[in-house]
Amino acid sequence: MPFSQPTVIRSRRVVLPGGERPADVLIRDGKIVEVAAYGTFTAEPTAEPTAERTAEFAAGSAADAGGIADLGDTALLPGLVDTHVHVNEPGRTEWEGFATATRAAAAGGVTTVIDMPLNSIPPTTTVEALEVKRKTAEGQAWVDLGFWGGAVPGNVADLEPLHRAGVFGFKSFLAPSGVDEFPHVEAADLEAALAEQARIGALAIIHAEDPAVLAAAPQQPGVHYRDFLASRPADAETAAVAHLLDTARRTGARVHILHVSSAAVLPLLRQARADGVRVSAETCPHYLTLAAEQVPDGDTAFKCCPPIRDEANRDALWEALANGEFIAVVSDHSPSTPDLKLLPEYGGSGDFAAAWGGIASLQLGLPAVWTEARRRGHTLADVVRWMSAGPAELAGLSGTKGAIAVGHDADLVAFDPDGELAVRAAGLHHRNPVTPYAGRTLTGAVRTTWLRGRVVDTGAEPFGRPLTRPAVTPSDNVF
Ligand SMILES: [Zn+2]
Repeated sequence: MPFSQPTVIRSRRVVLPGGERPADVLIRDGKIVEVAAYGTFTAEPTAEPTAERTAEFAAGSAADAGGIADLGDTALLPGLVDTHVHVNEPGRTEWEGFATATRAAAAGGVTTVIDMPLNSIPPTTTVEALEVKRKTAEGQAWVDLGFWGGAVPGNVADLEPLHRAGVFGFKSFLAPSGVDEFPHVEAADLEAALAEQARIGALAIIHAEDPAVLAAAPQQPGVHYRDFLASRPADAETAAVAHLLDTARRTGARVHILHVSSAAVLPLLRQARADGVRVSAETCPHYLTLAAEQVPDGDTAFKCCPPIRDEANRDALWEALANGEFIAVVSDHSPSTPDLKLLPEYGGSGDFAAAWGGIASLQLGLPAVWTEARRRGHTLADVVRWMSAGPAELAGLSGTKGAIAVGHDADLVAFDPDGELAVRAAGLHHRNPVTPYAGRTLTGAVRTTWLRGRVVDTGAEPFGRPLTRPAVTPSDNVF
């Protein structure tokens, strides 16, 4: 790591809320206290400081060996906010744990993680379970860490206490989740959960696939990706989203569609917003950067639900992203052990139907999205909007996270937009060396990550902090 604890970070490419420009970012006590013109600050005390801030900084620098970190043409971005991460600890720590997940996050430029309420045991569906997860995470988090709760059949009475205890909202599945201890909600459960969430002002985040459409789809096990794709058709997403939007309309709940894979749901979202339904949606790096046509036979590292669809669909997702129809691009990092992925290189059958559905990419989201974004003419400011500011807004954290702005936490990333990253799964910090990006060369490399002004050194002690939902509920300003 090239820098210790700079008081000023300077770059010719600082990505600010208004766009990219050369700037000096002054940090004190872990917060951004000033964003000034490039070259404003000097490292050495001057005999007669010309500006008060120079004097202040000069005084600070005496005790701070870092002084000015000058990144040159390496860009300075706000740390990414990843609101969709399955850590799985305790209970399935061998799939992924707090230490490994958050170390991967930091190495990938992610400084805030919000953990999903499954596949840990216990799932985060009661206050007691939340306390177990918090206790387990203590001292293990390399980045700041918050928790989603879960809304499952029968736990309506737990939602308000969980919300008061600081979860960011509640996840529900409309189809089986893949683990028995986190059952999906039927229509009546969903109605009850959303009514309660409307009452307490919570954000409902939903895995939207329709179980009846899935059950009616052709089920052909084996190593061919096209058979798996046919078993999770786009209609499953549109039917589930339509049902969800109806329920949201009736209950007045604020809803968010997780991991949209099919662009066919977008017209439904547009119509619902026009009707006044409070709905937002996210998509994920793998839907934007990978395509069904490229998935090799038996390579179950690519299996996730809903699935990666065809290239035409991917283009439509990019168009929607460019038009501001997605509030966030987040990882849906959901690993398992290689044996449950049934990967042929680990002696598995490569059967897409039986393999665990989940993609491991927490450390790779930024370069993966940047590689494709740049090819399509987008800017770093766009990527920051999708991966930092947007998810921070979704979680209600825009006051402290997701932007290089005065008063925000100094969560920052030195990102070389021209760097290259040759992905080797075994070289990642993820607990298990499995990712569909293995073997690819991505554009863009994270050089340094700062959390509240301190360099995250993954060889040293972690200093991530627990996050709770701010007192202000998530913004009603859902584009
Ligand atoms: Zn997920």
